[in-house]
Amino acid sequence: MRLILLGPPGAGKGTQAQRIVEKYGIPQLSTGDMLRAAVAAQTEIGKQAKALMDAGKLVSDDVVIGIVSERIDADDCAKGFILDGFPRTLAQADATEAMLARKGVSLDKVIEIRVEDEVLAQRIAGRYTCANCGTGYHDTNLKPKVEGVCDKCGSTEFKRRPDDNAETVMTRLQAYYKETSPLIGYYYAKGKLVSIDGMAAIEDVTAEIDKILSSL
Ligand code: AMP
Repeated sequence: MRLILLGPPGAGKGTQAQRIVEKYGIPQLSTGDMLRAAVAAQTEIGKQAKALMDAGKLVSDDVVIGIVSERIDADDCAKGFILDGFPRTLAQADATEAMLARKGVSLDKVIEIRVEDEVLAQRIAGRYTCANCGTGYHDTNLKPKVEGVCDKCGSTEFKRRPDDNAETVMTRLQAYYKETSPLIGYYYAKGKLVSIDGMAAIEDVTAEIDKILSSL
């Protein structure tokens, strides 16, 4: 199963991707996570990407295409994967087509998660993740079962992203509407697009996605 989760920052792509990973056993390929790991490890790519990420701007196509193209060749991607936060430009979408063609496979679905801007800002402002396993939480919408303890791994360390602040969110939203939203038409024209209501409760969005995936 090869999927793309498409939607603005804060739409719930990461949250839903984690659920698909658990249910279907295919890996989540998040370019944002990969870039944050590169920044933390202070690699050459990380050094190049940091200022752009902090400002909410997109990293160059060549860099992200390079990291996805390498990652997609790993054994755990043989049965499929979920692309989360990639592709984000038409050039990246074309590169994805070429990567998949080279592997002799194709995309099954592109799931667009739609959410209104005001809600995105509120979601982004309250979100944080477990510093150990990366499970996502939110101050009001998705709290751990026991306060201060990760449901999944029991860690008590959490972190917030430096780009999850009100100012950077505006730049990230602009980048989404300018560079990424044309992909909606791109995949619609290919007959791959399905759009769902991301304003619904997390469980309801998961159920909606499940319905789509079980019909594949
Ligand atoms: P995300 O975690 O998907 O919100 O991504 C965080 C930041 O990483 C973005 O604001 C960009 O600076 C960068 N980034 C992630 N994925 C991409 C991509 N596919 N193309 C360009 N920049 C990206």
